[in-house]
Amino acid sequence: MTSAEEKFNQFLADIFQVDGAEGVVECFQFLFGAFVITRDGIVIGANAEFIEMIQYLKSELYGMSALDLIAEDERAGMIARFAEGNTERYELKLLPKSKKILDVLVAPRNFNAGGKVFRLAEFVDNTAQKLSQTTVRESEQKFHSVFEQAAVGIARVSPAGTFLEVNQKLCDIVGYSKEELIKKTFQEITHPDDLDIDLGLVWQMLNNERDTYNLEKRYFHKNGSIIWISLTASLIKNSDGSPKYFVAVIEDICSRKLLEYELINKASHDALTGLCNRTTLNEKLENEIHRAIRYSRSLSLMMIDIDHFKLVNDNYGHQAGDKVLIELAKDFKKIIRRADDAGRFGGEEFLLVLPELNNKQALVLAERLRQQIESRSIRFGENTINVTISIGISGYPEHGDEIDSLIKACDDAMYIAKQNGRNRIVSA
Ligand code: GH3
Ligand code: MG
Ligand code: MG
Repeated sequence: MTSAEEKFNQFLADIFQVDGAEGVVECFQFLFGAFVITRDGIVIGANAEFIEMIQYLKSELYGMSALDLIAEDERAGMIARFAEGNTERYELKLLPKSKKILDVLVAPRNFNAGGKVFRLAEFVDNTAQKLSQTTVRESEQKFHSVFEQAAVGIARVSPAGTFLEVNQKLCDIVGYSKEELIKKTFQEITHPDDLDIDLGLVWQMLNNERDTYNLEKRYFHKNGSIIWISLTASLIKNSDGSPKYFVAVIEDICSRKLLEYELINKASHDALTGLCNRTTLNEKLENEIHRAIRYSRSLSLMMIDIDHFKLVNDNYGHQAGDKVLIELAKDFKKIIRRADDAGRFGGEEFLLVLPELNNKQALVLAERLRQQIESRSIRFGENTINVTISIGISGYPEHGDEIDSLIKACDDAMYIAKQNGRNRIVSA
């Protein structure tokens, strides 16, 4: 035993005020990693666990300044604590011989022995916990930045439907600030026509019938406009299986929906005039005939053909002819009712499908159309173009209950109008 060790053992015996230094040394060994330093911060003793932590040989350690055993930026704090006699636990970075910093928790105590102040400190390795705290914090930060910067809207929603937490993207989609949105329920901003199906799926999740669902639905933007979104919702449960909250991922699909709508519209409408094309007209006509038969209602058809339209093309050019077709289509749409359908039947022929209208009423409407076109001038560049139309009318039940017979009847009537001098109306 070196004299330093002997002195330390004697010191331990003094501070624990126990006879027989051997037992006390053992007590000291039972502590966590521990050392004792003088008032000047010189190490006078350490237990085996501390020596293992700090990696210095006992012969090197005894006599070292405690300041050399801790990270540089912690030294001032350590001196201050020591000077104040502070005995609160604190976190510290130990600097072992390897210079590989060790995070520890320190529990210091002060002792008087032989009229001098000493400090005994126990050290517990804190690295693992530190690491896991850092990992948790980092993963929280990572999650938060993903949540905030996501290109999709994300929300945490209570089982009753209240938005608990929302990201910026979702706010951008629906036009509300975070503060405004957090007070709302998804039910409040969902289009009423989409609510039942959405609630049905939510109910299935709450009933453990499914874990997740995807739905394309409509929200109301703060400004009142309708926005199409794709929703993926999943349910997060408590450990007892009860519902905790929903996670909703919300994607703005307005532009895709618009494209879809345009594609459908393109397939069903005439590109030049925007009116229904012949295929769509046939479908609508079929539906209206069925309805008229089932409910014993009237139905009228009008075939409209522009008079001497070839001359318009010949005199002013094909583009002028197109402009005339466009302007006439606008007039037809303006004059017919919402329930009516106007379509481009052929080059310069239009077919109107007029539910609930009997022959007498159809004649009145036809006359309004004829007068409107006759009185109207269409400007094309320098030119002012005037056209007239000839109209043939047929109707259910007078002219049959099939598409072909009804169309043929109004087409024939239109030709008679042509033969009779044009710019006139003939009922089949
Ligand atoms: P009618 O009074 O007997 O109906 O005489 P019309 O000249 O109107 O009849 P015709 O059937 O001889 O000519 C129809 C013209 O319509 C011929 C064609 O070039 C023109 N036409 C058809 N579709 C279009 C179109 O999309 N744009 C233009 N500019 N002209 C068209
Ligand atoms: Mg024609
Ligand atoms: Mg014509």
